[in-house]
Amino acid sequence: MSFDMKVYNNLKRKKTPFKTLEEGKVKFYSCGPTTYDFLHVGNARALVVGDLMHRVFQALGYDVTYVRNFTDVDDKIIARANERGIDALVHSAQYVEECKTDMDALNMLPATHTPKVSETMDEIIEMVETLIRKGAAYEESGEVFYNVPGFKDYGKLSKKKLEDLEMGKRVGVDEKKHHPADFVLWKPAKDGEPSWESPWGRGRPGWHIECSAMSKKFLGDTFDLHHGGVDLMFPHHENEIAQSEAANGKEYCNHWCHNEFLNFGSTKMSKSLGNVVTIRDFCEKYSGVVLRQILTSVHYRSKMEWTEEVIERAINDSERLHLFIKNISIANQTAAQSDSQEMVKVVSDLLENVKSEVSNDFNITGAMGRLFSFIRDVNREYLTGKKQLSLLECEAVEKLLAFFKLSTGLVYDDFAGTLNILKSAKKALNAGDSTISDEEVEQLLVERKDARTNKNWGKADEIRDRFKELGITVKDNPDGSTSWSY
Ligand code: AMP
Ligand code: ZN
Repeated sequence: MSFDMKVYNNLKRKKTPFKTLEEGKVKFYSCGPTTYDFLHVGNARALVVGDLMHRVFQALGYDVTYVRNFTDVDDKIIARANERGIDALVHSAQYVEECKTDMDALNMLPATHTPKVSETMDEIIEMVETLIRKGAAYEESGEVFYNVPGFKDYGKLSKKKLEDLEMGKRVGVDEKKHHPADFVLWKPAKDGEPSWESPWGRGRPGWHIECSAMSKKFLGDTFDLHHGGVDLMFPHHENEIAQSEAANGKEYCNHWCHNEFLNFGSTKMSKSLGNVVTIRDFCEKYSGVVLRQILTSVHYRSKMEWTEEVIERAINDSERLHLFIKNISIANQTAAQSDSQEMVKVVSDLLENVKSEVSNDFNITGAMGRLFSFIRDVNREYLTGKKQLSLLECEAVEKLLAFFKLSTGLVYDDFAGTLNILKSAKKALNAGDSTISDEEVEQLLVERKDARTNKNWGKADEIRDRFKELGITVKDNPDGSTSWSY
């Protein structure tokens, strides 16, 4: 490679050179979603960051093997499936498909391998057996635990100390565990849960072991880069390291990168907090083009706030970009028959700078900033008709855009279609602003109260749906009053 890739490696808590095991090849694993429901835009951040890393490696010419799993066996999946009265694996398979639809809407490139837990059971069981054989795990009546104090490097990623974990976990310790920090590798089956035969009886795996088994299956004992949301660093990733290094006797992964959270009004977006915007709902209203632009507008290691201004800015940025692509396409058709190369040098220097931005810890935002200032310059000098681009110059610009297309996923060849999508998004955003005033909300609340008093449930439901559509939460207080917020 002609440039030096660097990543912020959380193992070292600093930016380090990205040295791969094999020259020019990257083995990359990212923890994928748990498929129990539609994903929210916070999950989308993790997915898009993984995709950006994948794209940057490809654009820089690496040969990438990218593994992103689906967690299709899990407590939340089982609980949802039981509510619906269907098989847990049928439920999760449906949401794997929904997730794929969302990934397409977000213009994500396919990963090389997308394993599911339910399809990796042999490898999981084999790894648990190895851990028991090596004394790194133990069985207690059908349940298998990892022996954390036996792994001397425990805490090397999260920088947590075993003594501190011991203090924190004293209360409510599982009786079967030998140490409070020990964690489950295999648990016995309960009625109504999916289960598999194992040397410890029918059961299913704990959460952490799946990523150790899947990465080994497709990337080998040691690989180059592991990514996930920052919440996964502890305990999930710490436990992956402990399991894999004890089982394989080798270093697990050389570089660890974690994306920061997408916050919704200063709190993390999560299903349990009820402040969720699903990818599907957002894309139906504003499109995946806009969501991807939003999620790419902040460096992956910075926290991100979800606000209406962010949506508006993303629409405007994408519009500016696609108007430029449109203008270049027109300039290409009417290019001057001159052999002017003035811009060629500017563009090739810019491309070098852009490559060095993205190889500097995936600084897509830095690269986009350079592109936007270039667009401003070209618009001013050329596209207003002052000067005309030559064919050679147009070619150079198109090469630059091709790099952006691959490395960011923000550039769409169909500029006309994309501009239409953005126009609709703008309309939806403005409609959201103007459809309701505070007085109108109050009026609807009165109507809702009347409908409820008169047991007019149809009307009450209609008003509830309208509030939902507007993103308004209504709270009925114990004293009979009602409050509402966006
Ligand atoms: P889960 O389905 O909860 O296992 O999450 C899938 C991925 O989404 C993980 O990498 C999480 O760290 C990530 N994630 C969940 N919520 C957010 C959020 N609000 N912002 C960014 N990433 C998130
Ligand atoms: Zn994982």
